[in-house]
This record gives sequence, structure tokens and C-alpha cells, in this order.
Amino acid sequence: MDIKDLLPIPDLENCASLLCIQPHPDDNEIGAGATIAKLAKNGCKITYLTVTDGSIGSSDPNAKPEDIARVRKQEAEKAAKYLGASEAVFLGFPDGSYPNGKELCKSIVEVIRRVRPEFIMAPDPFLPYECHPDHRRVGMAAAEAMIFSPFAGFKTGGSAEPWGVTGIAFYSTAYPNTFIAVDDTWDDKFKALSFHESQFAPDTLELLSMYFGLKAAGYAEGKDFGMAEAFKVLSGDHLHMNVDTINM
Ligand SMILES: [Zn+2]
Repeated sequence: MDIKDLLPIPDLENCASLLCIQPHPDDNEIGAGATIAKLAKNGCKITYLTVTDGSIGSSDPNAKPEDIARVRKQEAEKAAKYLGASEAVFLGFPDGSYPNGKELCKSIVEVIRRVRPEFIMAPDPFLPYECHPDHRRVGMAAAEAMIFSPFAGFKTGGSAEPWGVTGIAFYSTAYPNTFIAVDDTWDDKFKALSFHESQFAPDTLELLSMYFGLKAAGYAEGKDFGMAEAFKVLSGDHLHMNVDTINM
């Protein structure tokens, strides 16, 4: 028997509900937009969770953080709605503030316990050379939240009942084990990204489209579809004292 048979990789594509956790407005779309659109069209209940307010996301020295945050929240709401999310939750941590790990984890646990998703997704905190502190912290806090949310003894200050998540899907990963065919929803990813007008000028979107198009074709190579998004999908058992997870 193989270890992979003992600890199977959960089935992202057929999950009934998914909480999409992003450090900033636009990360879910960049990492998983076409997959989110596909799952929503298949009937999966999608919830968006944006952790920071995106308030430093501008190169204009005269832009006020509160104005940037307001615009980015509106853009995130539009993108989430377009991709089929039924709810968009905002935690409002300040952008780029090196958020405290336990505070982040507790905040995410509280949302998990209220929304009760089968799956969660977040950026892969184990991505080599990932130097953005919000991405490393939010990805790790999402995984920590998956471990703690079933335990009643882990207190958040909220009142929601404990809830166990079946799987976590890390996007923007260097160690993918799951490839979702997204030929039919590829354009939805870029339509959703186009709502982030404060972040992407048309020429930037064009460049992103070319880059991610090449990546998606590469992920689909040798398979019976043309475009794929890639994820490292794991169960809770993979997230603790498991020396095989890196190879799963
Ligand atoms: Zn980000």
C-alpha cells in the first residue's frame, strides 16, 4: 500500500462549499479565478474572505490610504460577485502591517466556524522566494485555522460552533498536486481581474493574460484539456508532523 492511499488528497473540484481567503483584493483572482468561476457554475457555494484592506496598493504619493482601501473593497466585491461568490467578508487588517499570526488565525477560525465550508483556499505560504509578509502570514494563518477550527478549546472570542474543514487548496504554489481544467472559465478570470482598475492598467492586464496563459497551458500539458490552474491540495492530516506532505 502507498502512503498516498492512506492519506488521500481531498477532492477540490467537487466540493460543495469553498471559502476563498486572500491577503489583498485581487489575489484570489490571480491565483484561482478560473477555478472559482468553474466551481460556482457547478453549484459550489463560494464565500470570499479578504484579510487586509489593500490600503498601500498605490504608487501615487498623494493617494490617501482610506481612499485606496474604499476603492479596492468595491473592486473586490465586484470581482467576487462576478465569479459567483454569495458573500464577501472583509477583515480589514492594515495592508503590509505584518499582522500578528494568532490574531489572524483567530479571525479566520471565526469566519470558518460561521460559514462552515467544506474547503478553504489561500496562497501557499511555502512558496520559495515569497517575500510579501501578508502572503506568508495569511497562507500560514489559513492552514493554522484549519487545524484549530474543529477544537472547541480554541477560543476566538466569537460564538460560532467548532467546524472541521475537509481540505485546503493552496494557490500560487510551487508544489502542485491538483490541476483543475479551466478552458471554459479562463476568460472569467480576466474579466474579474479587470474590475481591479486601481491595480491593473490595460497593458498590465495584457501581460498578466499572456503570462498566466502560458502557465495554464503548461499545467495542462499531456492532459485532455488545454488550460489548468494548479493547487497544492491537502487534508488536515497533511498539515502536522507529516514528513511526506512535501511530496504529496
Ligand atoms: Zn496580495
